[in-house]
Amino acid sequence: MSVGTLWRAGRSEVPPGHLDAAGCNVPSDRVLDAVVAQLRLERQRGGYAAVPDLTAAKSALAELVGAGPADVAFLESGTAAMAALLGGWRLAPGSSVGYTRTEYGSTLMLLRRLAEQRDWKLLELPVDDDGRLELDGLRAGLALMILSHIGSHRGVVQPAAEIGARCRAAGIPLVLDVCQSLGHVEVRGAGASAYVGTSRKWLAGPRGVGFLIVPDLTPAMDAAAPTLGGHLWNEPLPLPLPGAVRYESSEGAIAARVGLGVAVLEQHALGPSTVQAALADLGRTARGLLDGAGGWRVAEPLDEPSALVTLRPPPSDTAEHAAARAAEASLLVSVVPTSRAPLDLREPVLRVSPPLGTSMETLHTLARVLAR
Ligand SMILES: *Cc1c(COP(=O)(O)O)cnc(C)c1O
Repeated sequence: MSVGTLWRAGRSEVPPGHLDAAGCNVPSDRVLDAVVAQLRLERQRGGYAAVPDLTAAKSALAELVGAGPADVAFLESGTAAMAALLGGWRLAPGSSVGYTRTEYGSTLMLLRRLAEQRDWKLLELPVDDDGRLELDGLRAGLALMILSHIGSHRGVVQPAAEIGARCRAAGIPLVLDVCQSLGHVEVRGAGASAYVGTSRKWLAGPRGVGFLIVPDLTPAMDAAAPTLGGHLWNEPLPLPLPGAVRYESSEGAIAARVGLGVAVLEQHALGPSTVQAALADLGRTARGLLDGAGGWRVAEPLDEPSALVTLRPPPSDTAEHAAARAAEASLLVSVVPTSRAPLDLREPVLRVSPPLGTSMETLHTLARVLAR
């Protein structure tokens, strides 16, 4: 059985035509069952008497980037995880923080706010025509480098291993946003200082969970605000507990965290590299079928090894119109607004992100919808 068939088999009610894994993927029946079972347990015993041990979930998640369970903190979204990480990072005034114009909208807003408040210097590093970071642009002297491994608005995969190696050699801590890459492409080997991710996209966990993985905690890194869950009451200043727990929100959607753990274990059971190869295949097939349909053009290289496919409209059509026609044909695709990557997107694009097991028939139907 193919990995796609196995993936689908675990989901008794995958809506046909779901092409939005990059927005909100389809959790498996086991994931849903685990969430509901935890909620029932909380009702039965009382929430505080039903606190699950999430060490195995954290181990499995950390393993996807080559880290350990103590490096993982759960928060409610990728955005919240990025804010927790950067909001508490103590950099000297005047420090330079590198980013690229392909960066995610809310990360850019956060960076601008922090730069203004703390006198950080934001340095936009050069990218090539596809939005890939120019390795030679990474220079010593940066206090921090922020990069999305895959953007929300374009299926280009940044060469994370090379970037990570350059950063390490230059002593630059790398923050890798893996919201669109974990469970999708290989992340191990990047050797980043911190990873920011989210549950509901390629890992196919429940909504309402994000996470931070921080293998390289330094004394400069702490939560923006101390909490009873992550810090010791200490005079005159609270001290962070060892590990990533300093960032974790102790109150949260605990059942959803349990569900994410199950989703990550399923990812391991299928085999991360098998999943990655199947998704890369699916992406290439989708691009081949959709590029040129009705004058729509794929925005990233056709052979990019990702299943996040973005299309630019012909003059006679728009992403909003195409998404509406797709919905009439029972296909779920998404419109990526320019605010998602405000420095890089000039007009909204149509994003097609097929989950594992998407049929050729679904992709052909979409090609016909685009061609009208
Ligand atoms: C979705 C996304 C985020 C934010 O994650 P949320 O869980 O929606 O807050 C950050 N970066 C990228 C590249 C994303 O695609």
